[in-house]
Amino acid sequence: MTSQNEPLLSVQNMEKHFPVTKGLLKKQVGAVKAVDGISFDVFKGETLGLVGESGCGKSTTGRLVTRLLEPTGGKVIFEGADITHMGQGRLRPLRRDMQMIFQDPFSSLNPRHTVGTIVGAPFRIQGVQTEHGVKKAVQDILELVGLNPEHYNRYPHEFSGGQRQRIGIARTLALKPKLIIADEPVSALDVSIQAQVVNLLEDLQNELDLTYVVIAHDLSVVRHISDRVAVMYLGKIVEIADRKQLYSSPMHPYTTALLSAVPIPDPKARREGRERIRLTGDVPSPLNPPPACRFHTRCWKAQEICKTVEPPLEELASGHRVACHFPENAADVAKPAAASA
Ligand code: ADP
Ligand code: MG
Repeated sequence: MTSQNEPLLSVQNMEKHFPVTKGLLKKQVGAVKAVDGISFDVFKGETLGLVGESGCGKSTTGRLVTRLLEPTGGKVIFEGADITHMGQGRLRPLRRDMQMIFQDPFSSLNPRHTVGTIVGAPFRIQGVQTEHGVKKAVQDILELVGLNPEHYNRYPHEFSGGQRQRIGIARTLALKPKLIIADEPVSALDVSIQAQVVNLLEDLQNELDLTYVVIAHDLSVVRHISDRVAVMYLGKIVEIADRKQLYSSPMHPYTTALLSAVPIPDPKARREGRERIRLTGDVPSPLNPPPACRFHTRCWKAQEICKTVEPPLEELASGHRVACHFPENAADVAKPAAASA
């Protein structure tokens, strides 16, 4: 799946700095470095999980990739084409290929429109031809996402939260996208139905050959669905690895801390277990991030070098990249640099 072939999406040193202005003349006095130079690839058919605490730049990343926002630096390549600064006209056909699913299935659905109108809108707006008419096409999609096609004329408030998220998913599927960015798709849902929606996304992926970036604020939600996981902290990617490696041998202390917050289902493992790491202090502001390693203000392993030299995102094991001067579990994997030193 994650083979040598060309990535569907390639993000290279992507940046989004929001200007902060002051006074009537709107003089720029600073910038919120929401996304501050991140790089990753997403291959066809895979799911990349993107995880980090609130405010670390996940949603901004999603909006940059789908070009709802224009990056202030770096590049976004989709199917080999540089779309970083593409104008609205040229972006229009691409809008079909890249869709976003949002967190709140209620506020993103117009309460005055029926499900039929909501799910059918993309067909009408994009002028997509359907073989047996829009209604039939919409009903097929409703069925695909596990909704009753006869509920075509119902309104969003007549559905439960989980069903509303299914409507949101149905709407994004209407245009047969290639890439779906799901921004905290289950965060607003009851825990008991989160798994159902995640399973639905997984089934749809197999059936429709979709590629996903699934955003979440904790590591438990994306565990089963992801092939690879990227961990963000304050506008940077601090670790990216195959799912298995990331959960079994996390290397960045921040990832370790996030993982220790995930409940362990097995009581035996819990007893013998992993120590719970409590992160102290708040996430610093992206308006004025700490120098060098941004995590040093909250890291129990931090040394002088962490405050002065930014650790690069280095590949310490095959496909496992981490930005840390003192990585965890480093003994488990041969560090290429250490071998020659
Ligand atoms: P996440 O989705 O990880 O919670 P966001 O991408 O929404 O994080 O936000 C990252 C940072 O960028 C936050 O500090 C947020 O306040 C800031 N931010 C997001 N959008 C804007 C904007 N339009 N203007 C200014 N700052 C913004
Ligand atoms: Mg967000």
